[in-house]
Amino acid sequence: MNLQSFNRFHNEVFNLPRDSFSNFDIIKVKSLGEYLYSVKSSFPIEGLSLSEIYVELHFFLQNNTIENPNADFEALFDFELTEINDIKGNYRDNQGRKFRHWMELASLLELLSNTEFGNNRSRRVLSSFTEEIFLIPNSILKTFLRDKILSINTLNSSGLSNLNSFELYRNLNFRPAMAILKYLYILNRPCTRFELSIFFGRPDYSLNSEDEIIENAISIGRDFPSNRENQIELFFERMGWKDEQGNYYKYSASQQPYFKFNAFFILMDAVGLIDYNVNDSLVSLTEFSSSLFSSETLPETVELESLLNEVEQLDINDDIASKVTKNRAELIAELLEADQDFLNEANKKASAKSGTVQISSQSERLRRDELIREISKQKALYVCQGCNQETFIDKNGNNFVESHHIIEYNTKEEGPDILQNLLVLCPNCHSRIHFARIDIVEQFYSRLRETNAITLDQFKEIHTKLNMLKTKHIEILLKKSIISEEESTELLELIAE
Ligand SMILES: [Zn+2]
Ligand SMILES: [Zn+2]
Repeated sequence: MNLQSFNRFHNEVFNLPRDSFSNFDIIKVKSLGEYLYSVKSSFPIEGLSLSEIYVELHFFLQNNTIENPNADFEALFDFELTEINDIKGNYRDNQGRKFRHWMELASLLELLSNTEFGNNRSRRVLSSFTEEIFLIPNSILKTFLRDKILSINTLNSSGLSNLNSFELYRNLNFRPAMAILKYLYILNRPCTRFELSIFFGRPDYSLNSEDEIIENAISIGRDFPSNRENQIELFFERMGWKDEQGNYYKYSASQQPYFKFNAFFILMDAVGLIDYNVNDSLVSLTEFSSSLFSSETLPETVELESLLNEVEQLDINDDIASKVTKNRAELIAELLEADQDFLNEANKKASAKSGTVQISSQSERLRRDELIREISKQKALYVCQGCNQETFIDKNGNNFVESHHIIEYNTKEEGPDILQNLLVLCPNCHSRIHFARIDIVEQFYSRLRETNAITLDQFKEIHTKLNMLKTKHIEILLKKSIISEEESTELLELIAE
């Protein structure tokens, strides 16, 4: 029974790619993204198996070259071969083994994701991340991958989900990198790869959430000695992993959890999330990862902010900035729910730029505004708050809507560029507000109030959360019949307090 538990435990540890990590560097990931993206049109909706990807790439590279060729990658193919069966045979032999490691890396990093088509977990499709990796310049590659590695989770990453021993795959959203950082931060000491691997190198199915996994790890890890051999002894004792003679079970060569899970440490080290000391094999936080925990804000928020800031600095086409925002819209919306500060931070930055604080550059300002607008549209589910009608699908795949500032964003009204002041409208409703006869506009506002598309609370929040509501704004709202006399008095009293 105990031997079974010992074996099962180690079968559950994520078995990550190894060959591809012998000389890992982040440019390899960029290459992977570029090669996979080059055959994007070959991916059917139901996805491709890894051997089919091998065949597609083989034929593509036989006839084409790509912009930034990577000789190591192309060495994995034998371009003399022309028969599909021979190529597939190549895939199955030793040469293919290296290719499979590259593909495992691609799966781990979600360059390849599980297909949502049917239940076949062995087929893969390209993700939005593949396109991002293809598009981004090397200057922000590290930040970009750092953000990705932090978000790798057991729900989405096919590289983490292909546990061979587990049929009962639960819907546990567990992010090993984030858990490792939290553990390092709370224990506040360098940790061994052994402890990080046993706690975070496998999802613990007896626990119900990432928080529970971290809490459990901390409660055991607090009593851990710092040395690996002693840790192993203590943990084996706790798990009852010994035979009848009282001897602890022994690991076979490749069974050690820190060996199977090692790629994760190499990745985290490569993007500056941890310091991995090769001499004593101890892992500790970096200056950057410590900074994730130094404010009241959620670490996810700090990380996302830092990525968005770097993207904002890019002096290249806006395409990437909007893709990055759009692809993370769900996360942004989640953070908005979970972390009021995130919204306020983004709001404050936007408002600072529109008002008292100096604007650093025109393009930076445009992108920050874009972010606020994108969030407001996301919150409104891309539906017009005036008429609920759909318009047309835009090039980003959303129903087309526009953002309107209730207190207008111009020198006359000086409305703040924040979520509480934004209304999401179709072009028709938007034009109505700006150009219709005054009684039609008033009628429209009263309908928006009835449906709670505009509420008194949102104006109160402009004061209570952001301290940005001015007497002048209240007068404008009253004059446009957006609020009543009584409501205007209430708001004036609120800001006078
Ligand atoms: Zn409308
Ligand atoms: Zn407008």
